[in-house]
Amino acid sequence: MNPLAKIIAEDIETNGPMPLDRYMTLCLAHPQHGYYMTRDPLGASGDFTTAPEISQIFGELIGIWVVRAWQALGEPRHFALAELGPGRGTLMTDMLRVLSKSPKCQKAAEVHFVEMSPVLREAQRERVPDATWHGSVASLPPLPSIVIANEFFDALPIRQFERHDGKISELCIGLENGMLKRGRVPAFANLSHHDGIYEDATIRSGVATALAHHLTTSNGLGLIIDYGHFRSAPGDTLQAMKNHSHVDICESPGECDLTSHVDFQSLGEAFTQGGMTIAGTVTQGRFLNAMGLEPRTEKLSQSLFGTAKNNLISASERLAHPTEMGDLFKVMAVTSAGLSPPYPFGAQ
Ligand code: SAH
Repeated sequence: MNPLAKIIAEDIETNGPMPLDRYMTLCLAHPQHGYYMTRDPLGASGDFTTAPEISQIFGELIGIWVVRAWQALGEPRHFALAELGPGRGTLMTDMLRVLSKSPKCQKAAEVHFVEMSPVLREAQRERVPDATWHGSVASLPPLPSIVIANEFFDALPIRQFERHDGKISELCIGLENGMLKRGRVPAFANLSHHDGIYEDATIRSGVATALAHHLTTSNGLGLIIDYGHFRSAPGDTLQAMKNHSHVDICESPGECDLTSHVDFQSLGEAFTQGGMTIAGTVTQGRFLNAMGLEPRTEKLSQSLFGTAKNNLISASERLAHPTEMGDLFKVMAVTSAGLSPPYPFGAQ
């Protein structure tokens, strides 16, 4: 057992089975042993890879969307370009390169990062030294804002409940022969009448509500990109990743990434209840193709040869092909009242 597993086992001995949101919080954010507190998990040498780390084109196309979003906001002289969970700062670096082609927009942009990881904050500071860091969306400045979040909401803790044969239970972490193990405890929850596992993403909805509060007060737009499903549906989507492979969620807590799929319907409801308009949710493939993935890949590849050229082309395919990231990942745009969302959302 690693040190965090021992801490969790002691907690369970004293307090009983641990709900998954508490388990995920300890695994990801424990001050000494939490996954994001101790390491940079991204890239080939880490545990998982994200779209901005796969290809610069991802951030460039989102940068184009940001310039249009700034135009939709009426080209304010100052605006917050905020990113939630910015990883290594790669997406922001690629977006800012595009903004530099629109000097008025670039000059107006103030970069704000919401990031809990001290290790990743350092990586971000190297790439975007002028940014301002926040622990949560609540402290974002009262400026018109464009907020981007790629693979942020999947990292927020969830609980799981199950209906089976008329009985309701909660899936919790307990102990079996002294080892951590996911099991069921009787529970009360307001679930659909169909058997299945239901994920409760109250923490995720809470962040969406806080973001909606910020955007409705200051005016603005959000672009949320993540893996998940358009419509709420039962299912167990909690997963642990280590060295680019799936592992048991109880294996080495704090040493693997824990995430779950984002239910875009209920995330959207949290934004709507917070006063925002959902401009649309599309697959990542559709979004990137509409934003010009093909011509940009073609243009960039003209100056490359051999392996570099092939890598660029296969990276674009990986981002947008339906059997790779193209269908699983969704892109949702939200706007505060009275704003027309930039293409491809207004076009629907
Ligand atoms: N957006 C980046 C990184 C995704 S990994 C990319 O696409 O490459 C998840 C990111 O969210 C990391 O930067 C992690 O430190 C951050 N994060 C996770 N939970 C968080 C929380 N509760 N508050 C702030 N940041 C969080």
